Amino acid sequence: MVMALLRTVGRIGIDAILPPRCGGCGAITETTHAVCADCWAGLRFISAPQCACCGYPFELDDSANINGNEQPDGQVLCGNCLQKKPDFDLARAALVYDDHSRDYLLRFKHADRTDLTPLLARWLYQCGKGIWDQADLIVPVPLHRRRLLHRRYNQSGLLAARLSKMTGIPWDGLVLGRKRNTRSLGGLGPSSRKREVGGAFAIDDTRAQLCGLDGGRVVLIDDVLTTGATANACARALKQSGVMHVSVITVARVVR
Ligand SMILES: [Zn+2]
Ligand SMILES: [Zn+2]
Repeated sequence: MVMALLRTVGRIGIDAILPPRCGGCGAITETTHAVCADCWAGLRFISAPQCACCGYPFELDDSANINGNEQPDGQVLCGNCLQKKPDFDLARAALVYDDHSRDYLLRFKHADRTDLTPLLARWLYQCGKGIWDQADLIVPVPLHRRRLLHRRYNQSGLLAARLSKMTGIPWDGLVLGRKRNTRSLGGLGPSSRKREVGGAFAIDDTRAQLCGLDGGRVVLIDDVLTTGATANACARALKQSGVMHVSVITVARVVR
């Protein structure tokens, strides 16, 4: 009780010295870990209608094109998922990947702006509504140890840890590893991406047993979903270890 009071007083004190700032432009905001109204207006959050599987957002004028894609269970799939279901079961992204969301992610990944973690995690939490209730474990897409040494932190690991705190679901940053240091996928087409990350991920068996991976439902966390090649390669590795269901939640996704 006394500690809680001291913490509150402490927080008020800190807020008075350092007022909360917008995660986008740095303008002073009323609440912590938020964005100002201008920055908010620039973000494109993804909402229904979207592909029941990969979460691809359908523009309203697309509705004519997807009419034939309805499955017997009433779910509507995008053309890609209709052609070939991905290795993951479900993917959802908070934002469309554009200049605005890219700016947040670049700062978060490469500019040591780890203070953006609570803001981005909140967006992930909201877009994963309905997924958290049934999940057993949160797993971040791993960095190769060489890249981790260079960057000093795995941005997806920070998000996974934060989401674990918010949801009460355990997370593990070691069960899924990158055995090969893949080159940057930027600028590569879908088939090159697939080739580059295929077989790049591996499960630590001891860790898998500790986590109870077998038969479990995993939420995979990454920053961006582009072609889904990385998410697919991770999902394949997880499923080979007995994972039953893989949901992928990313901050943003490319929409073409
Ligand atoms: Zn702002
Ligand atoms: Zn789809």
